[in-house]
Amino acid sequence: MDELALLEDLFLGTPRQGPGSPDTVRRALELCALDAASELQVADIGCGTGASTLQLAQILNASITAVDFLPRFLARLDATALDAGLASKIHTLCCSMGALPFAANSMDMLWSEGAIYNMGFASGVKAWHPFLKPGGLLVVSEITWSHSAPADELRAFWQRAYPEVDTAGNKIRVLEANGYSPIGYFLLPEECWTEHYYAPLAAEFEPFLKRHEDSEAASAIVAENRAEIALHEKYSGDFSYGMYIARKC
Ligand code: SAM
Repeated sequence: MDELALLEDLFLGTPRQGPGSPDTVRRALELCALDAASELQVADIGCGTGASTLQLAQILNASITAVDFLPRFLARLDATALDAGLASKIHTLCCSMGALPFAANSMDMLWSEGAIYNMGFASGVKAWHPFLKPGGLLVVSEITWSHSAPADELRAFWQRAYPEVDTAGNKIRVLEANGYSPIGYFLLPEECWTEHYYAPLAAEFEPFLKRHEDSEAASAIVAENRAEIALHEKYSGDFSYGMYIARKC
């Protein structure tokens, strides 16, 4: 099994594949102040198994295209949506976030939690801009320094892992430079990492290792995730995901 298939197998067991929570979805939606008179066209890009997609479908009068490039995540979302009576509102699409097939000016809202870093924040917000209707909303979460002086060890780690890591002020400037008017921002609170993401993930480590007979590749993935959790425990005051809400100008 290659590394991507192993990651897919590990994260299939978790309720979400990145930091977030039902509360922060609601908070972001409040900032959007959507007019729900007619059915909204929404895409959740890098949806994973769709924790937020399902919540959006419950709350909004919307047709939601849930995009991911891992087919087993989408199959899980299809099955959950069916069980929850939400299948008619959610359409899964197996596709790269860098090659979305949407028509220009067709989307009321593009939602993406913990995923845009795969393209890079600046490239992603630029590439997705044409798909939004004028006045359409972008809701995106992105790793963000909580203040301007994060610890040196942490800065070195993230600059190797994702050189675009930055402060909220600089992320907002990127949005403005790419045709968006920022309308809201908040940092995800601690429980989005601990209770909603890392605790369920850590509970999967042993069953995952057992399924893969402690293979070198599976052990390396667990070690990497344990190191990430330890780094977060040590420096949680210095960084989080920022949730950015912006309108297409
Ligand atoms: N949004 C979900 C959540 O918050 O639980 C998942 C976040 S997870 C950190 C990132 C997701 O992006 C994964 O499901 C992964 O498969 C997907 N992804 C990564 N690169 C992608 C790409 N190039 N195109 C489409 N999806 C991608």
